[in-house]
Amino acid sequence: VPKMAAAQRVVAELREACATPVARLAEVAAAMAGEMEAGLAVEGGSSKMKMIVSYVDSLPNGGEEGSFYALDLGGTNFRVLRVRLAGGSVAERVAREVPIPPGLMSGDGATSERLFGFVASALAEFVAEEEEGHDGGKRELGFTFSFPVHQTSIASGTLIRWTKAFAVDDAVGEDVVAALQAAMSKQGLDIRVSALINDTVGTLAAGSYYDEDVVAAVILGTGTNAAYVEDATAIAKLQPTQLPASNIMVINTEWGSFASPCLPLTEFDEALDEESLNPGEQTYEKLISGMYLGEIVRRVLLKISSRCSSFFRASAGAGELMTPFVLNTPDVSAMHHDETPDLSIVGEKLAHTLSIDGTSLETRRMVVEVCDIVATRAARLAAAGIVGILKKIGRGGDGQRSVVAVDGGLFEHYGKFRRCMESTVSELLGEKAAQRVVVKLASDGSGLGAALVAAAHSQRA
Ligand code: ADP
Ligand code: MG
Repeated sequence: VPKMAAAQRVVAELREACATPVARLAEVAAAMAGEMEAGLAVEGGSSKMKMIVSYVDSLPNGGEEGSFYALDLGGTNFRVLRVRLAGGSVAERVAREVPIPPGLMSGDGATSERLFGFVASALAEFVAEEEEGHDGGKRELGFTFSFPVHQTSIASGTLIRWTKAFAVDDAVGEDVVAALQAAMSKQGLDIRVSALINDTVGTLAAGSYYDEDVVAAVILGTGTNAAYVEDATAIAKLQPTQLPASNIMVINTEWGSFASPCLPLTEFDEALDEESLNPGEQTYEKLISGMYLGEIVRRVLLKISSRCSSFFRASAGAGELMTPFVLNTPDVSAMHHDETPDLSIVGEKLAHTLSIDGTSLETRRMVVEVCDIVATRAARLAAAGIVGILKKIGRGGDGQRSVVAVDGGLFEHYGKFRRCMESTVSELLGEKAAQRVVVKLASDGSGLGAALVAAAHSQRA
């Protein structure tokens, strides 16, 4: 059938354009390590990666004690937590997840005051309910804020720019702790923000609380980013007076903005970027993270259907298929994992999310292949990034054990993505070295990490 052949040609071209052979990934890892180096050299240098100094210069040692609040803002939901630390473990942990109204994330109504006001009011509600759990001293909070921030101390920093689905213009350049603190005062909340951290830094702190060999943390959720432990003397842009006694410094790489000619970009990625909230930015993130994988797949399916109008038998589906972000990454994951003989899950997803009914088995197979190509490229590129970090710090050989803590819904729930990423790390390091590297799920590390860093910087004695 010529129509099928036209569709197959689109898929074949996609497969070719998304190819990530080992040689290509080795280039990506080397480029990542090189950009890291460049980002450490001078503040505001040529590197796309900000390599942000986090002011976290020690990792949890188990001596943290007391109740701490944590706020985790960074994706589609935010989380409020209270954690009680005692005797080197988490004695109690209460958490609540609150969806952020889309109107507060972007658009005309999205102002800094409204966003932080919303966060503070949800926090106030949680604190009121948690009152009994409070141990009497002044309340302290660790704030996990997962956007690029120019950190000015452990508890202050100005927003460089928004990413993911956020675009709250008047917050750019603002001190996010001051904004939160002001919103909390309005709510009559007396809480001290003791630490401002990125989610990667939180995941790293939480990871090291449980395993002292953790050297890096990676987020694979709505967005993607990584942090790692750097030798402070290797950070050229650090002023001599900033050199910590511990001689280590956690760096928030902001690797989502990594860009390099060696990245396998396609026409679909270019169009997605142009129509995004942040064109020209977050190139690596747009290839890898949960916010975008479904959207890339949608764009490919749209091209297939335009090449052969009756490919998806019901052309009534065209409307849905043309709507940005209707297909999300959990949908892609569900289709990719479909093991029913007639791919009935794929059929249902196409019918329900895209209004494409009555698909043939052959069509469904092709859709699964598109999901596979897009997710495999993402997982392999993420693996190359991890190897780049390991190379930068002289790990990933067959010497010392190295652990990479990973958090985020994409890694946690998308099994094929996760397994592909893990096996690619091994493929890149070689079998022997790979035995000394552990990639480990650190579920909701970012919240616990904020509480741990807040504890380390507590003013309660
Ligand atoms: P955030 O990054 O906003 O902090 P999470 O770490 O919870 O949030 O990750 C949420 C993201 O994870 C979603 O945007 C989605 O892309 C992805 N995700 C969640 N569940 C799945 C799933 N079953 N399969 C694939 N991706 C998923
Ligand atoms: Mg998160």
